[in-house]
Amino acid sequence: MDDCIFCKIIKGDIPADVVYRDERFLAFLDIRPINRGHVLVIPLVHAERLTDLPDDLLAAELPLARRIASAVLEVTGATDFNLFNTNGVEAGQEVFHHHIHIIPRHAGDGLTFNLNPVSYNEGEASELAGRIGNVMTS
Ligand code: AMP
Ligand code: ZN
Repeated sequence: MDDCIFCKIIKGDIPADVVYRDERFLAFLDIRPINRGHVLVIPLVHAERLTDLPDDLLAAELPLARRIASAVLEVTGATDFNLFNTNGVEAGQEVFHHHIHIIPRHAGDGLTFNLNPVSYNEGEASELAGRIGNVMTS
């Protein structure tokens, strides 16, 4: 994709602080880190969303993210981490080349998801679970 910033990083057309590269994936520091050592893992093939990735690539991505997360924790001294993935504008996706965020976390780092949970009406949760389950088995 000619206008994709992550494809440009893959091609070396724009710089990045690369932490890992193999024949399928690239990992580099996020330019606007939530914490120091915030890494993005991307496939070398352009795919907009997680749902656009072939199964074999997706299956290889999580073990790699886990390895990189361990390295990030070791180097940064962070105790914990989040994996984060955005799919679509409403989910906060800004770069439309699938990526996994690895975000090291420290005690008191102030990052909060500030969740405001919604409530289910009586019977709504079981009805919804059943409908999703039906799609899964259809
Ligand atoms: P998302 O909101 O999930 O699409 O996240 C996109 C991420 O890409 C953001 O955290 C940006 O800071 C990061 N980003 C955008 N451009 C670059 C770049 N040139 N190098 C490194 N990270 C970038
Ligand atoms: Zn791309």
